[in-house]
Amino acid sequence: MLSLLKKHAYIGIVINFAGGCSSNGVAGELGFLFIGGLVVVATLVFIIEKAKSKGRITPESDSRVNYERGKHLNNYLEQTKGERLTTEQCQTIEENLGLYHWVPEDLKKPWEERILVFLDSFHFTNMLDRNVTEEMRLLVAAEACLLIVNRPMSDYRHLQRIRLWENEIEGMENARGTATRHEVNLSWAYLKKTIGNARDGHNLTIHEFAHVIDFADDGVAQSIPVSRDSCDYEEWKVMVDEEHQRLMKSYESGKNYSIRAYGGYECIKGDKPELFSCATSAFFERGVRLKRECPKVYKALKKFYAIDPATWRK
Ligand SMILES: [Zn+2]
Repeated sequence: MLSLLKKHAYIGIVINFAGGCSSNGVAGELGFLFIGGLVVVATLVFIIEKAKSKGRITPESDSRVNYERGKHLNNYLEQTKGERLTTEQCQTIEENLGLYHWVPEDLKKPWEERILVFLDSFHFTNMLDRNVTEEMRLLVAAEACLLIVNRPMSDYRHLQRIRLWENEIEGMENARGTATRHEVNLSWAYLKKTIGNARDGHNLTIHEFAHVIDFADDGVAQSIPVSRDSCDYEEWKVMVDEEHQRLMKSYESGKNYSIRAYGGYECIKGDKPELFSCATSAFFERGVRLKRECPKVYKALKKFYAIDPATWRK
């Protein structure tokens, strides 16, 4: 703002000086042209400065932008309600996605609506040796949207891009997938190899997009996907602490149960980032077992995702 005021003051002085020379003949016309030129330049400088200040990213404007983006995604879903995938697209999902056959018929419509919005709204970055194909985009979208089949699109309001890699993710030894609030990285070879198996309790895409959802409310993946002011927050906190204790023992012994032992991983800051994602994979792929072994976890996920996979026909 200070630099903007200084520029305006400077321009004002030049205009006054030029105006003093415009009293006769050619000099007057030249002076007039000179003033006109300066006015154009001043206007341009003002417009550019204003645009710059509008585009400046501050934490406040960042959250406003994401709030607006969430609203836009939800509106888009509302506007395109009723649109369905093509027969070929349904066939591609059916042939590849192990979970497809378990999803109840009444969820197919909201699922397809979300897949279409997802495909139209999120950017795929090619990190492969070949091009990202429509099939690749469709399969990632299908799994990501199964998580939000009964939730708003705004769960992905912070998401900016999905990067598909051939095998390992560069700089992340042995990593098949990573996620931040803004980005998901997936190994296409691993995804393709495992996407058909819907019974092992692990699903790469579902796991990584569950992290995105966990991050969404507060920027932290601590396995509590609801905000601090939610009436469910305390219940989540207690449940995560309790369940994490059990998983820590599994993690240390390397023994899996319905939730993969990796869910017991704890990061240096004490957060428990993996429990929610591992439990989410188990929720979709081992619903009945999860409900039996960890009823509190199942109940919390059932309420959060607003679906009941333990009842899905398998
Ligand atoms: Zn993870």
